[in-house]
Amino acid sequence: MNDLTIASVETTILDVPLIRPHKFATTSMSAQPLLLVAIRTSGGAIGYGEGVVPGGPWWGGESVETMQVLIERYMVPILLGRRVDEITGVLADIDRVVAKAQFAKAAIDVAMHDAWARSLGVPVHTLLGGAFRHSIDVTWALGAAPAAEIVEEAQAKLVARMNFSFKLKMGALDPETDTRRIIEIAQALQGKAGVRVDINARWDRLTAFKYLPRLATAGVELVEQPTPGEQLEVLAEINALLPIPVMADESVLTPHDALEVVRRRAADVIAIKTTKCGGLKRSRDVVAVAKAAGISCHGATSIEGPIGTAASLHFACAEPGIDFGSELFGPLLFDEELLQEPLRYSEGQLHLPDGPGLGVELNLDAVKTWTRN
Ligand SMILES: [Mg+2]
Repeated sequence: MNDLTIASVETTILDVPLIRPHKFATTSMSAQPLLLVAIRTSGGAIGYGEGVVPGGPWWGGESVETMQVLIERYMVPILLGRRVDEITGVLADIDRVVAKAQFAKAAIDVAMHDAWARSLGVPVHTLLGGAFRHSIDVTWALGAAPAAEIVEEAQAKLVARMNFSFKLKMGALDPETDTRRIIEIAQALQGKAGVRVDINARWDRLTAFKYLPRLATAGVELVEQPTPGEQLEVLAEINALLPIPVMADESVLTPHDALEVVRRRAADVIAIKTTKCGGLKRSRDVVAVAKAAGISCHGATSIEGPIGTAASLHFACAEPGIDFGSELFGPLLFDEELLQEPLRYSEGQLHLPDGPGLGVELNLDAVKTWTRN
């Protein structure tokens, strides 16, 4: 196990069915495509990473198909023959050949961390400085069904003690109807559970000014990215206007983006997806900027499967700056268990697994079943 040389890199696209369609502002998915990246060392360790975006290229321009091409054609030649513990150097070399493409780079970063940790027989969080916590709160994403059905789904989660806060997607309907629907749900859950909304950058400034105060008054506890990601002035205006926290997601992919949010006081919380930030190493740089400015960070998801979720969980548990809970519910939305032993969710939290690497083992039969031909 101690030869850390990268001997091979393999990519596989899976299409994993979901328990129900997951709706975003501009698209809906009934299966989540995952790009599984396997890095094998000469010492025999295999590390996995996941290339995954929320339901296609609408979010950030990447998809499993673009990631596969970028990785196979441009990143693999850089990786072969290098050591799995050379993460900083390898990523710097990849940056010289591939701009942006954070989601694809994240898959490489995580596979390297997993293979490196497995070579040493330690968990990934050890490589990140050790576990600061062993579990994290998980907010559940409610679907796009009529309000009564949504409230029922939330109540079932509360009774099962699976989740104590909920996030709803907005931006697909006209704002008036959308707002009325959310107010109905927020009022039904008032005093029982927290309700947050994510508008995925779909509203313009005036729409946000008109409807966000109504949502805050109705008891919505947090608003995520109401307006376009690059319009930080607008986000700052909204943040100054609202009595509830504003979370930046599409606005922040890099440490520099975080610095801009800080300078303009554009948000109170930053959504950290280890995918959109380009992996565990670079997520840490983003959190460092937020932490220095006293801004909270949330362990966000791009609907990762179990590998990506485990990676984000190790990160969230090793990083004190992830102090605003998480939405690491991805695997619960999947209609197929891809692990031999599922990740453990209970009491509103996701628990850090034991074991080397990411601490999870893929069920290769299930992987094969959902591999795209
Ligand atoms: Mg979001």
